[in-house]
Amino acid sequence: MRVAGIDITVDWSLLIIFLLIVWGLASGVFPQWHPAWSPATAWLTAVAAALLFFASVLAHELSHSLVARAYGISVRRIVLYVFGGMAQIEHEPGRWVAELWMAIVGPITSLVIGFVCLFLGVVGIRHVDVGSIASVEHALAGLDPARTLLMWLGQINIILALFNLVPAFPLDGGRVLRAILWGVTHDLRRATRWASSLGQAFAWLLIGAGIAMVLGFSVPILGGGLINGIWLAFIGWFLNNAALVSYRQLLTHEILQDVPVARVMLTRFEAVPPQLPLETLVEAYMQRSDQRAFPVVSANDEFMGMVFQHDIERLSPEQRRTLTVRDVLHPPEKIVGVRPEEDVLEVLNLLANRDLNQVPVLEKGHMVGLVRRADILRWLALHGTPAGAKPARS
Ligand SMILES: [Zn+2]
Repeated sequence: MRVAGIDITVDWSLLIIFLLIVWGLASGVFPQWHPAWSPATAWLTAVAAALLFFASVLAHELSHSLVARAYGISVRRIVLYVFGGMAQIEHEPGRWVAELWMAIVGPITSLVIGFVCLFLGVVGIRHVDVGSIASVEHALAGLDPARTLLMWLGQINIILALFNLVPAFPLDGGRVLRAILWGVTHDLRRATRWASSLGQAFAWLLIGAGIAMVLGFSVPILGGGLINGIWLAFIGWFLNNAALVSYRQLLTHEILQDVPVARVMLTRFEAVPPQLPLETLVEAYMQRSDQRAFPVVSANDEFMGMVFQHDIERLSPEQRRTLTVRDVLHPPEKIVGVRPEEDVLEVLNLLANRDLNQVPVLEKGHMVGLVRRADILRWLALHGTPAGAKPARS
């Protein structure tokens, strides 16, 4: 599905959360609000509510994406998954003002949706006296399915906005905090370190509260219960990971920034001639090296393409005996190549975005090197990634 030129992908994990919401509403919330409703009414309203909830999560993510695009950052796609949504942007914003607006527009969108839903849910209802709990329950019971749905959608969007506003990086509120710290200190690294430390602290708070609830304690605001506790601890664990990964990603970016491909590329690699029989390629080259892709170079040193191990694996012994490298090579126009002066960071993004393991380094039609994921990781290991911090996959 495409909205405003952005690919929308739905992760399978969303199905679980969809079923949980429908089940929770149809068998818990709605029967409590409306004891008189038939099961069919409750279930249909629950399904509609869950679908509209995902639509509002999508609106939240789209708002991030559209602001990102307004600042010249392209958005590849939005993935809806178990914790809501995530917009995949090509790179982090370069200025703190862009980061601030990109982050804050999401919760604002959710708040607006929330209050509009609540307003539509109550508009036109005769004045009811909500002086006591009994009259609130009476008022709720009198709502038709459409108004009930709007009331639930309104409150869930406001909860979503408030949760995202917690200043715990990489939640939206944490991004807002990072943008402000970045603006004040002019130091993105320090701002990210502080914001993600706060993010981790919040995550551990959630994990602690979750464990307490699992053990049967009641936590202020959140209440208690085994299932709620497990959920809370799980969300905390997820946030803790996200905070760590974001910080490491930043370190990776800093280390790789302004490093040209020429300094990272493999210069000692084996190339093969086009007329080489595949049998020889397999026995004399592939079996004797850890290279999984071989550049094909003509007698006058011209780059003719690449031959990959995974293509050879599919061939029968008969084909390997009769064919040569020329028959199976991928020609240069189908190969993504990079130039020696390009940024390694760009290459790392390229490898991740296209799901490649290596790219040839080309200069004026000649192949001068090969860059693999492993070579970039080796550079990171040799150039100051702090102990224990594995470079994150971008
Ligand atoms: Zn958001």
